Amino acid sequence: MRARAQAAALFAAAAVLHSAPALTWFFPVTKHVAPSLLGVRPEGEVAITFDDGPDPVSTPLVLDLLAHHRVKATFFMLGDMAKRHPGVARMVAEEGHQVGLHGLYHRNALFRSYPTIGYDLKRGKELLEDTSGQRVHLMRPPYGVLSTAVLMHARRLDLKPLLWTSWGRDWRAVATKESIVSDVMRHGIDGATVLLHDSDCTSAPGSTHAMLQALAELLETIQERGLRTVMAGSGTSA
Ligand SMILES: [Zn+2]
Repeated sequence: MRARAQAAALFAAAAVLHSAPALTWFFPVTKHVAPSLLGVRPEGEVAITFDDGPDPVSTPLVLDLLAHHRVKATFFMLGDMAKRHPGVARMVAEEGHQVGLHGLYHRNALFRSYPTIGYDLKRGKELLEDTSGQRVHLMRPPYGVLSTAVLMHARRLDLKPLLWTSWGRDWRAVATKESIVSDVMRHGIDGATVLLHDSDCTSAPGSTHAMLQALAELLETIQERGLRTVMAGSGTSA
C-alpha cells in the first residue's frame, strides 16, 4: 500500500514537472520573471507577430498592409501550411519579414509524446527553411504551451522559444476590430510583442477579416506614437 502511495506521489510529481513550464500559459507570468521569453521590448519598440499561416487568402493581405506602413514583422508558420502554400511562405521571406516556427501541426504539446514533439519541430523547421529560403531560429508553440519536452527539443534544434506580451484574441468568432484593438492596447503596445493571426485555419472562419481592420488601426497608432517596429526576439538575451 505504502509503495503504491509512493508511486502515485512520484507520478504526480512527474506530471507537475512535465507541465510546469506550460503553466506560463495558464497563469500570468509577470514581465519580470521571463521578460525575453515573453518578448518584453525596450521602451519605444514593438514587435508585431502572426501565428498559423502562411495562408493563401489572408497572408498576402497582411503583407500589403505591412508594406503600406513600411513595417517588418515576424510570422510563426505551421510547417503543414507552408507545405501546402510554399509560394506564400516564400513571399513572406522575400518581402523582408522574419519566419519563425509554430509547429509542423497545430497540436497541444501536453498531449504528445517526447519523440512526436521532436519530429514535429525538426520537420516543421525543415519545411519552413525549404519553402521560405530563410534560416529559422525562433519558435512559438501552439497555445503557448512550453512543456519540458518542447523546451528540450527546441534547445537541441537551436530554436529560441518566444511567447508574447499582448494579444488581440482575434481567433474568436466574436472578435471585432474594436475588441482586438482594445485587447492589444489594454496589454500595452509600447515595448510589446503583439500576437495576431494571419490565418483562420485553427480559429473561427473569417476571423482574419476583423484582424485585418484592427491591424490597420494598430499600425497607424504605432506610427502616430513614433514606435519603432522590430523583429521578434531580436536584441534580447536568452
Ligand atoms: Zn496557433
